[in-house]
Amino acid sequence: MSDCIFCKIVEGQIPSTKVHEDELTLAFMDVGQVNPGHVLVAVKPHVENIFGLNDALAAAVFQTAVRVARAVEKAYAPEGVTLYQANGAAAGQTVFHFHLHLVPRYAKDGMDLSWPTKNPPREELQANAARIRAALN
Ligand code: AMP
Ligand code: ZN
Repeated sequence: MSDCIFCKIVEGQIPSTKVHEDELTLAFMDVGQVNPGHVLVAVKPHVENIFGLNDALAAAVFQTAVRVARAVEKAYAPEGVTLYQANGAAAGQTVFHFHLHLVPRYAKDGMDLSWPTKNPPREELQANAARIRAALN
């Protein structure tokens, strides 16, 4: 897509700092670097979000994520690694070309995602699960 920054990176029209590249995926350093070693794993074709991934792309992007996560673990020995992946502006997505973040983590590193649990009753869990099962194909 012509005005997509990650398509431009994939096509080499703007610079990036690459970690790994294969037929379907590209892993490169996030310019923001929440912590040193923060990598983005993107699909090469322009797919806006998770809903547009076919099985081959879904498999490829997660295979690359696992491989790069192991490398990040080996290279930085972080205390943890967070996978972060946003779909839609309300979810925090700012670049609308599918990618996931691999962020090396440390206690009190300042990265925060609030997690406002509601702990609903079992009946509500069952109703929510039924709604999703009915939509599965
Ligand atoms: P998200 O908010 O999940 O869509 O993440 C988008 C990420 O892309 C942000 O963490 C940005 O720092 C990163 N980003 C934006 N432009 C570039 C770029 N040209 N090269 C590398 N990372 C970028
Ligand atoms: Zn794109």
